[in-house]
Amino acid sequence: MTSQVLLATRNTKKLAELRRILAEAIEGGTGEGLDVEVIGLDSVAAYDEVPETGATFAANALLKASEAVRHTGLLAVADDSGISVDALNGMPGVLSARWAGTAKDDDKNLELVLEQLADVPEDRLGAAFVCAAAFVTPTGERHVSEGVMPGRLIRQRRGTNGFGYDPIFVPEGFELTSAELEPVDKDAISHRGKALRSLLPQLLNALGAR
Ligand code: IMP
Repeated sequence: MTSQVLLATRNTKKLAELRRILAEAIEGGTGEGLDVEVIGLDSVAAYDEVPETGATFAANALLKASEAVRHTGLLAVADDSGISVDALNGMPGVLSARWAGTAKDDDKNLELVLEQLADVPEDRLGAAFVCAAAFVTPTGERHVSEGVMPGRLIRQRRGTNGFGYDPIFVPEGFELTSAELEPVDKDAISHRGKALRSLLPQLLNALGAR
């Protein structure tokens, strides 16, 4: 019997990353023998977005996954992520998507961070992307796992892949921004890739046990 996994995000770029990482992990041997269909929110009846009221990435990821299960009855995977900038005391953090206002405008968010860093010396532009990935099953099993991609910010945008703050983020050990990396190369080192891959054993277990 085919098991369905719902990826509960309305961010299309994030959905593409989650879908790619999960498909690769499930098909990459670990999920051998499992018949899994990964679907997005466009394949289920629409429901209102849950307010991200959690103080941590993990709390918000669990909130989004639980809400998706409540509305659909399907096993749901969700993530909550953001960028944590050293010189801004770890902010925008959980507020990354709404840093310049509730419109969730990637461009304005990035510009505001650059404005706020205008007087910060080059050698203090350390930052990290953080992601909590969670899944919740229809029987109420809950798992959450975190991944971090350390790096630094630059002041000039470079690259058109990815989304959000990618054009001004250079991962540790790289010269290219995460918007200049090929998508599969970003997946291999990204906060989202790490969080999802570490969740995989429990996810495959939950899928196999159904
Ligand atoms: P969320 O939908 O509440 O998890 O919002 C995450 C926000 O953090 C996004 O809107 C982006 O601004 C930022 N973000 C998270 N992950 C990434 C990434 O991989 N690249 C660039 N920006 C990211």
